[in-house]
Amino acid sequence: MTIKLTEELIHEQANDRSYERGREYYLAGAIYSPAWQTTPGGIALTSMCSGSGGHYSLRVELDENGIISTSCTCPYDGDGDCKHIFALLLKYRNYSGIASLSSYKNRQFILVEKRLRHEKTL
Ligand SMILES: [Zn+2]
Repeated sequence: MTIKLTEELIHEQANDRSYERGREYYLAGAIYSPAWQTTPGGIALTSMCSGSGGHYSLRVELDENGIISTSCTCPYDGDGDCKHIFALLLKYRNYSGIASLSSYKNRQFILVEKRLRHEKTL
């Protein structure tokens, strides 16, 4: 099983505001204690996120078609998912070795983070 998680797929799930804010949170290093485990259909990602109002606990389930479910303990109640979810997804997305995740079981994913593909700044 290969979990595909592209930035396009992540963006599709988000309203623009949550996505942009999530990206800022991700780049600022707000996501910590990321972990994942296998589920019957795919994998579940969990992490903590520090936010303006405290620390939140997140969980995202994915299968080979994409995102199945998300939850976050923050009080966000707007459209779609909160920015913390997208920060977690972007963090996960930017780990290398993503295709080989299914060969591990219930491990912390402490992998080498890929260099971010920054927009061209020429
Ligand atoms: Zn949240």
